[in-house]
Amino acid sequence: MRATVMYGAHDVRVEDVPDAQLIEPTDALVRVTRACICGSDLWPYNAMAPSAIGNRMGHEFIGVVESIGADVGNVKKGDLVVAPFAWSDGTCEFCRQGLQTSCLHGGWWGGTTLDGGQGEAVRVPQADGTLVALPVGPDHALMPSLLTLSDVMGTGHHAALRANVRPGKIAAVVGDGAVGLCGVIAARRLGAEQIIMLGRHADRIALAQRFGATDVVSERGDAAIERVRELTGGLGAHSVLECVGHGESMRTAVSIARAGGAVGRVGVPQETTIPNAQPTFYANITIAGGPAPVRAYMHELLPDVMEGRNEPGLVFDRTTSIDGVPDGYRANEREAIKVMIQF
Ligand SMILES: [Zn+2]
Repeated sequence: MRATVMYGAHDVRVEDVPDAQLIEPTDALVRVTRACICGSDLWPYNAMAPSAIGNRMGHEFIGVVESIGADVGNVKKGDLVVAPFAWSDGTCEFCRQGLQTSCLHGGWWGGTTLDGGQGEAVRVPQADGTLVALPVGPDHALMPSLLTLSDVMGTGHHAALRANVRPGKIAAVVGDGAVGLCGVIAARRLGAEQIIMLGRHADRIALAQRFGATDVVSERGDAAIERVRELTGGLGAHSVLECVGHGESMRTAVSIARAGGAVGRVGVPQETTIPNAQPTFYANITIAGGPAPVRAYMHELLPDVMEGRNEPGLVFDRTTSIDGVPDGYRANEREAIKVMIQF
């Protein structure tokens, strides 16, 4: 089968790899119909040390169950399923509390030992806890939005929950990538009255406004912090969604939260420390977040997508075939918001 392998920075190839197959009785074999390239794929794309074996890539996918192991009962052959960006058993201490990204028997797609979503098929471990069957066929018009349940929509929702977004309050979103844009949807969905988007790309800003952003701050650094203060009566936002992970974006995020407010961080941190320890301490600002347990949110977010109230699939502004994935990485690094792979 064909799959995406990253061998180092800016070295992504689509190659023939061994066919995915069932190994454990808890596995399902899924034939991928849609996948995508993630902002977090760009971190290794820019910095991965050269590797002779390479890492299989992709952690967001929808596909059709082709076969199941003897112990799988929640999905069956022929089901169209969506996979969260981490696999999990659904039964351990952490899964039962809705923190599937900390599953005691779970893990991450791709790398050197597992299939990734950016390939024609995937062996899905712990299929019962991992996969969610979708109530539509593989060519349904809502496929782009359903694919965002794999990661970016659930991750934006997680940022909003961790930032404690409440009806009638002020939310600010740092980062206008696909996750930040989904964070706007999530903040509106949870009832925020004022939603401030911090970003500077015209096409993304337009989408943020369509999704419900009420204010846009295109300044950077101290000027951005100052502008948010002006927009919030000098006090800052109740809830800040940090959707980038850079030191500078985190510094902005903690600096625009008001006293007693919260920062929900879902951008993978690229620094070892959180800035402004003392000011955030004295202001009683909660800093929370991490990898989103998107599996826990799928059933909650699905109806809004199916019934057309939210359209997170609009973050996809480009579609490619599997063979176009290397170009897709180049595009995702530059002009594209998010690239979808159609098989
Ligand atoms: Zn678990």
